[in-house]
Amino acid sequence: MLDPLRLALSLGFSVLIGGLGYWRYSLTLSGWLGAIVVGTAAAGLGGWVWGILVVVFFVTSSALSHWRRAAKEQVAADKFAKTERRDWAQTMANGGAVAGLALLYAFTPQPWIFAAALGVLATVTADTWATEVGTLSTRAPRLITSGRQVSVGTSGGVTALGLLATIAGSLTIGVAAYLAQWLLEGQPALTTILAALLGGTAGSLADSLLGATAQAMRFCPHCEVETERAIHRCGTATEHLRGWAWLDNDWVNLLSSLVGGAVAASIWLLIGQSIA
Ligand SMILES: [Zn+2]
Repeated sequence: MLDPLRLALSLGFSVLIGGLGYWRYSLTLSGWLGAIVVGTAAAGLGGWVWGILVVVFFVTSSALSHWRRAAKEQVAADKFAKTERRDWAQTMANGGAVAGLALLYAFTPQPWIFAAALGVLATVTADTWATEVGTLSTRAPRLITSGRQVSVGTSGGVTALGLLATIAGSLTIGVAAYLAQWLLEGQPALTTILAALLGGTAGSLADSLLGATAQAMRFCPHCEVETERAIHRCGTATEHLRGWAWLDNDWVNLLSSLVGGAVAASIWLLIGQSIA
């Protein structure tokens, strides 16, 4: 049921926490707006457990982005289309599906819808952790499709360290969900942890696969390097190299989060009741 007080409180918290992210350079102004939309929908329409999980994603991802920033700056400037300061499109790519599921949940509060949101949040958390931690790997990443060695920051490149971060990120969302359910609702289900772990891992796998195959990749003719940027940091306009031109990193994140959500929801529907 819609609870006006919870909705108002959710809006207030989202403005505050998003504002903190803006002030700490984790969000742009439009990213702040995106965080307000996602946070208000998640906690206000889904419930406090949903809201807590969005905060866990946001806080851990922002902290990891800031962690050892200097070491990652070179890769980020060269390869990634955007900086670590998230804008509207990035917040929607990460949280848009959660907001949509929360809206659905407000009308039909089915546990599998919560499980889907869990899979989405586990995926975006795992992805962000893997990117932030994997970028620091001392061993060269390998392309998930061919195993060919690629340079750090290449979409679809995976490392053992990044894989570890993927599992840790998924588990963190699962355990946080379990604890939040236990504290607030008093009836946690172990399936929660399993759904987050498998959903997040599957979603991240989809992210790497899409990154290695269909994601748009560009090339700077001046520096002779691959990049996701339309204008390279040297100022040169880049050329389309491979992949679907419209499928940028934000779309890959959104699509892979849907894969993670579908896997987590399926796990709930298959075994949710039996070990709940
Ligand atoms: Zn260049």
